Amino acid sequence: VSAGNSSVLVVGAGQAGVQLAASLREFGHEGPITLLGDEQHQPYQRPPLSKTGLSAGPVPAALAFRTPEFYADRDIDVVVGTHIAELQTTDGSGIATTDDGRAIAFDRLALATGARARRLRVPGSDLRGVHHLRTVDDAAALHLALKRSGRLVVIGGGFIGLEVAATARSMGWDVHVVLADDRLLNRSVGPVVSEFYLQAHRRRGVTVHLAITPTRFLGAATDAVTGVELADGSVLPADLVVIGIGAQPRTELAERLGLEVADGIVVDAGGLTSDGVTVAAGDCVRCPTPIPGRGPDTVRFEAVNTAIDQAKVAAATITGTPVVRRPPPWFWSDQYDLKLQVAGLSSGADDVVLRGDPADESFTVLYYFQGRLVSADCVNRPTDFLAVKACLSADHDVPKEAAADLGTPLKRSVRPRQPTLQATA
Ligand SMILES: Cc1cc2nc3c(=O)[nH]c(=O)nc-3n(C[C@H](O)[C@H](O)[C@H](O)COP(=O)(O)OP(=O)(O)OC[C@H]3O[C@@H](n4cnc5c(N)ncnc54)[C@H](O)[C@@H]3O)c2cc1C
Repeated sequence: VSAGNSSVLVVGAGQAGVQLAASLREFGHEGPITLLGDEQHQPYQRPPLSKTGLSAGPVPAALAFRTPEFYADRDIDVVVGTHIAELQTTDGSGIATTDDGRAIAFDRLALATGARARRLRVPGSDLRGVHHLRTVDDAAALHLALKRSGRLVVIGGGFIGLEVAATARSMGWDVHVVLADDRLLNRSVGPVVSEFYLQAHRRRGVTVHLAITPTRFLGAATDAVTGVELADGSVLPADLVVIGIGAQPRTELAERLGLEVADGIVVDAGGLTSDGVTVAAGDCVRCPTPIPGRGPDTVRFEAVNTAIDQAKVAAATITGTPVVRRPPPWFWSDQYDLKLQVAGLSSGADDVVLRGDPADESFTVLYYFQGRLVSADCVNRPTDFLAVKACLSADHDVPKEAAADLGTPLKRSVRPRQPTLQATA
């Protein structure tokens, strides 16, 4: 089989899988493409599940990425409700076996298996009324539970937990958020923004308990949850609990293939796994990413935009298409009337510039490393976000002195980057 006519099996029909299949066709792949997933629904978007889709009730058809015609027009065979239990490969080609024993042969394999909600192993976590949120079915169950208002305890201070807290609060629930970290959104934003969200949630009536863990969920075995016991012995009464403590990459198939896995399927810059033929993309992978101050490292992202970019890269690798440079990661979160947009990675930054006043609920924090802009967290400042995203994509800079000046649109302060000493030497 020539490369262009080879059959490609994409396991996982989420954001990354759909993009991979579509990009394969866009890059001229002519062979059969099967996009296969184990959920019962046509491939759909997850971000609304903790936001509008949770309050209004998620409608799978409305959340679908694409119409059935989109796939039909591109001759992409979409198979839903089918779980791959086993994979065997030799030099990249092989056979996938479904739960019911069906064999699917492929010439090239792409893993886009995503992640699952991390479980909390404390007594009572399987009581009725204790929810996780990853799938549209999870969101439908949570939406039903939220219909009658009461007391909600959210475990976890990451994006999904806080978005659920905001949604439930807006629906009239009494909301408590409990997290082990000493600040909200610890993994994703800088301390100024964490503090802003702490105050923003408190102003809207949410009680946040920092630096404490739940030890058990209370309730009779056959009944619904009634409370959450914390490590200091105190008890928060609860009619409903949502656990949002992160996602675990689904790497079991990769492990069975003997691929390198380290909290994510390890891929190279072209999306190739350690066998050098199988590609992988999305929440299930760990990929090389330069981190300011730390040099090259591998990172696992859980965001729409990175899933899309990684999938394009993987499709380009399969088709032998030259790839454009991967743009810096970006993502967003909606809580109440607050839109957070983050561009770039702030983890290694050595300096920050504040643009605007958090008290106005409209501000941007710009992160610098060795005098150079590397990232920004923008709250209700979409034009700042677009300027920084474009700036980082073009490898340009915003001088620190200009960054705080609210009178000048940020995009007017974008400059070509000063050559580094090394580059000029
Ligand atoms: C509630 C929620 C809100 C979010 N909000 C945002 C947001 O505001 N902004 C943002 O940037 N990101 C957000 N995200 C993250 C974003 O949705 C994910 O990064 C994105 O969905 C990753 O896509 P993926 O294709 O890698 O994985 P997934 O979407 O998880 O898709 C993987 C698919 O593969 C299937 N699968 C796995 N193993 C098998 C197997 N063996 N056989 C068959 N099928 C299999 C899974 O069931 C799943 O359907 C949110 C996520 C959630 C859950």
